[in-house]
Amino acid sequence: MQKFNYFMPTKIIFGHDVVKDAGTELALGTKALIVTGQSSAKRSGALDDVLAVLSTDYVIFDEVENNPTVETVVKGAKFARANGCDYVIAIGGGSPLDAAKVMAVAAVNEGDPLEFYQTGWSTPALPMVAIPTTAGTGSEVTQYAVLTLFTEETKKGLGGPDLFPKVAYLDPKYTASLSKQVTIDTAVDALSHLVEGYLAERATAASDLVALEGIALWGTAISALREGEFDLEARKSLLLASTLGGITIAQTGTTLVHALGYPLTYFHNMPHGRANGILMAAYLRYSQEHAPERVAKILKLLGLASLTEFSALMDTFFVDYLGELEISDETVQAYIKKAQLTNNIKNSLGNPSGQELTEIFQASIME
Ligand code: NAP
Ligand code: FE
Repeated sequence: MQKFNYFMPTKIIFGHDVVKDAGTELALGTKALIVTGQSSAKRSGALDDVLAVLSTDYVIFDEVENNPTVETVVKGAKFARANGCDYVIAIGGGSPLDAAKVMAVAAVNEGDPLEFYQTGWSTPALPMVAIPTTAGTGSEVTQYAVLTLFTEETKKGLGGPDLFPKVAYLDPKYTASLSKQVTIDTAVDALSHLVEGYLAERATAASDLVALEGIALWGTAISALREGEFDLEARKSLLLASTLGGITIAQTGTTLVHALGYPLTYFHNMPHGRANGILMAAYLRYSQEHAPERVAKILKLLGLASLTEFSALMDTFFVDYLGELEISDETVQAYIKKAQLTNNIKNSLGNPSGQELTEIFQASIME
């Protein structure tokens, strides 16, 4: 019998106007550090909703870039300390949410965030409220924060039980202002979490339940994604699927798709979800050898007749971007070597060899 545990301490509040309805409950302390990207918190309407009900003092740090860096985190943490903040409200996509998580740690622990990767930290992170404005990363319900590390020329996840936000407020209306392409890119990140979680070595009976429900829900949004037209129902399904993806990977971790996707983002500036999407068909083909019934179930729940149909769907979303990629064999080898250092590879079924990873990568970047 498989032994497993299940830990997901974030309180989830889902629905229309949940932030406004929270009223004074939104506050988790006496002074908030509000962390956002450059404009999405305002554009989505989430910041206005927060400020309309926030009962405590606050300061706003609105400088988080896409694929946030250690440098930005340090800046935000200093700002939090200087202003005496005792809790964090993060609003935005995965970038502000992840940056805010590490700021919540660095605000109360000495040392460079880079050291946290090696030695961890002793004082628990400040409590955090997460309000996603994209439907993709599921960061609002995970214990991970992914940062760009220039020192290692890659992106790397930091993990810790206190990185789970205390409360996640999920309102699909905040995702209505997303462009068609960001909607697709982020939706495919959510799908990759659900699929990788279902195919992970660390998958459990409990994570499977969540992953399968999320995959089916994601499937209901395929026609909206194809047409690039999203009504509130589609937005709702994608946000819930994204959160279920986060709950899944909080239990299982991600696999080779995330490990091979990071160099596409770091070196080729490809949005995170798009990088995963480009790799996913070849990943499923590889996984078919190890868990054919699981791959068949994924396709069935998505309402797709075959892997070829899955591949065609990803092509509809991303084929235009493949032409921009020029990667030499030597460079591919360097990416594979770096990916092999991650735990994500061991978490992939069949513990893929360098040769197998190379084949997956090469097949994925061909037009
Ligand atoms: P993002 O980098 O947070 O945002 C992408 C773009 O979308 C930004 O330009 C952002 O604008 C804009 N945007 C966000 N919400 C919007 C809205 N409602 N309306 C209009 N524009 C909006 O994208 P993301 O895909 O959500 O996050 C990606 C990051 O999350 C990556 O660093 C990835 O590695 C990480 N990630 C984390 C986990 C985890 O478990 N923690 C899992 C997977 C991925 P602004 O710049 O104005 O904000
Ligand atoms: Fe991801």
